[in-house]
Order: sequence, then structure tokens, then C-alpha cells
Amino acid sequence: MSWAFAERDGDVLISLSGKINEDSAFKELLQEIRKRNVKALAFNLKDVRRVNSMGVREWFSFLRQLSWPIPVPLEECSVSFQQALSPIEDFSQTCLVNSLYLDMFCPSCHAEFDIKVELTMPVDMDAEFECPECNNMCQAEMWRVESLCKGNHSYA
Ligand SMILES: [Zn+2]
Repeated sequence: MSWAFAERDGDVLISLSGKINEDSAFKELLQEIRKRNVKALAFNLKDVRRVNSMGVREWFSFLRQLSWPIPVPLEECSVSFQQALSPIEDFSQTCLVNSLYLDMFCPSCHAEFDIKVELTMPVDMDAEFECPECNNMCQAEMWRVESLCKGNHSYA
């Protein structure tokens, strides 16, 4: 796992990428956050590629040690991150998912692609998305974001 810090409107956006597992350097990340005296933060998880069960444990242990006011805002959760973390009960209580990716399969041309879903505004559960290969309109598995939306205040 690697990370990058970026300033954004006075917030610090921390982008994580790669694998989250027992070797992920959360301890060093924690030190870096403390050293920088961060006042407001969010995590971008677009480039997290794989999360194993040890990684799930490491993530929650990191959040506990971070002792940040919960929920901690997350942006652009990758499919891998969301699939590993969202079944865990603590997830919706400690993390606020602002946006995420869903993996799509086009029934017409069999293309696979990801779509980004914003959860900061009311989500259309019947939304369809255009296949980038054949322009067919595809139904997303929106039920998979439903449990995450409940943690979001603006979910209607
Ligand atoms: Zn298609």
C-alpha cells in the first residue's frame, strides 16, 4: 500500500493505492498524519486494488488509533475496497462513503467497466449507465450501495 497527501480547500485528502493487507504500513501513515497536524481529512480509495481479511482488520485498527471523529469520509471507494469492507458491521458506523465505484457487465457486448456513483445526493436506484463499448444502457446493481447510503445524511 502506498499513499499520497494532497491539500484541498483546507482539507487533507489522503489517497491510498495498491493492496491493503498485513504488510500495509498503517503505523507509518498514522505518524505522517500526526506529524502534519491534520485538521480535516478524507480518504480517496480509487486505486485500492485488493483488500484481504487481515487488511480489513488493519483498516479498523488504523481508524481506532487515528481516533478521528467518526464517520471518517471516504471518496471513490474501489470495488475491491467496498466488497471487502461493506459487509462488516462497523463499516457504516465508522465510515461515510461519499462516492464509490460499481463494477458493471454489459449483457449486450459482455464488456466490463466501472461506474462512479455519488452518494452525497439522493441515489436513483433504477439508474442505467451507458456501456463505453457499444452504448447499450446497462442496469447497475444499485442494491449493493443501499446499505452504504443509509449512513449518508443526504440519502432521501
Ligand atoms: Zn456493451
